Amino acid sequence: MVNDIILGVKKEEDPSENRVSIVPKDVKGMIDLGINVQVEKDCGLKAGYSNKEYESAGATLVNNLSDKTNIITSINAFYDNKSKFIKNSSIISLTDIRTNSEISMICEKNSLSLFAMEFVPRIARAQKLDALSSQASIAGYRAGLLAATSLKKYLPLMMTAAGTIPPSSILVLGAGVAGLQAIATAKRLGAEVTGYDIRLAAGEQIESLGAKFISDEVPEDTETSGGYAKEQTKDKQKSQLEFLKEYILKSDAVISTAAIPGRKAPILIEKSTVKDMKPGSVIVDISAPSGGNCESTILGESVDINGTLVHGPKNLSSEMAFDASIVYSKNIFGLLEIIIKDNVFDINLEDEIIDAMLVFQDGKKRIEV
Ligand code: NAD
Repeated sequence: MVNDIILGVKKEEDPSENRVSIVPKDVKGMIDLGINVQVEKDCGLKAGYSNKEYESAGATLVNNLSDKTNIITSINAFYDNKSKFIKNSSIISLTDIRTNSEISMICEKNSLSLFAMEFVPRIARAQKLDALSSQASIAGYRAGLLAATSLKKYLPLMMTAAGTIPPSSILVLGAGVAGLQAIATAKRLGAEVTGYDIRLAAGEQIESLGAKFISDEVPEDTETSGGYAKEQTKDKQKSQLEFLKEYILKSDAVISTAAIPGRKAPILIEKSTVKDMKPGSVIVDISAPSGGNCESTILGESVDINGTLVHGPKNLSSEMAFDASIVYSKNIFGLLEIIIKDNVFDINLEDEIIDAMLVFQDGKKRIEV
């Protein structure tokens, strides 16, 4: 079989990124699709995948991707916008195109096609490609563990000879993919868990995990047709803060995950509330990269405020790079199965998945973000 299509796996440029976009066990499947897989040396090391494993799977190790590379995969191809981009190639990557305007210039200048992994539509057929969900689920799990290890308390109820220790109470704000996984993780560890979301539909999911659902007076139109939350009015935001304060102050740990796609994260925990929390309390603000749900959050830092530890993790899924890479690689493989047919790279714009993800085609912008 002649493998004409060259796919290059980039070594991530962000020094704090541990994940890799393709793992060795997917290389064979790619070769079967008719792809010649080249991987930049050491690209998988930080995730736990050796050069040898890629070679044994049939990939070619290269120091730098060749100028003939057709498709380039990455976790974040536009980390510092300084990479050398291969003209006329197609990039498959997560991007921050909504806030990084330089990406458009780079795509235009280099006639790139860009498949943005964050734009995978949330339809059943695209579930296999859903990188936001695969990574959010890992972040939620990791946030549950971070809350557990940051608390100076047991999570489960403990009966000891020296007396009974009550379980810790954990409040999870926002019960999408990450929030539900954080709830499940905290429950498994034995905590008393409460969940909150403005989408009423989330209530059933919270309760199905054995957690308690709390709800304020939410208007009915909190959800878009795509299943995402809508931004709240100023009045609603104010009453939400008042409603939540009581529950936050009762909790040992709060894991906040609330997000509105393409917008700054909603504030759900005010600075004054953090100051009133019990010393020893913990906040894990998963939404830190999009501005944070807590006013005291500092991105990439853990700050102590009157004895409350506020974590603003930058990239929780990268902390579980081995498994995060496995699922991301599968997400990309799902896309490759759609765009490569009979050894031919064929972009079908009639396909709603492609239509939603292909932001640039041959350097021309086709989706306003
Ligand atoms: P997200 O990351 O955009 O937001 C996280 C959560 O924050 C959401 O549940 C949202 O309702 C909540 N939120 C937003 N503003 C809030 C506020 N002010 N107060 C409290 N909570 C607030 O969401 P997500 O995790 O990507 O999931 C969004 C929805 O899409 C969910 O219903 C999820 O089940 C669904 N989904 C569907 C598919 C699919 O069909 N293929 C895949 C993944 C997710």
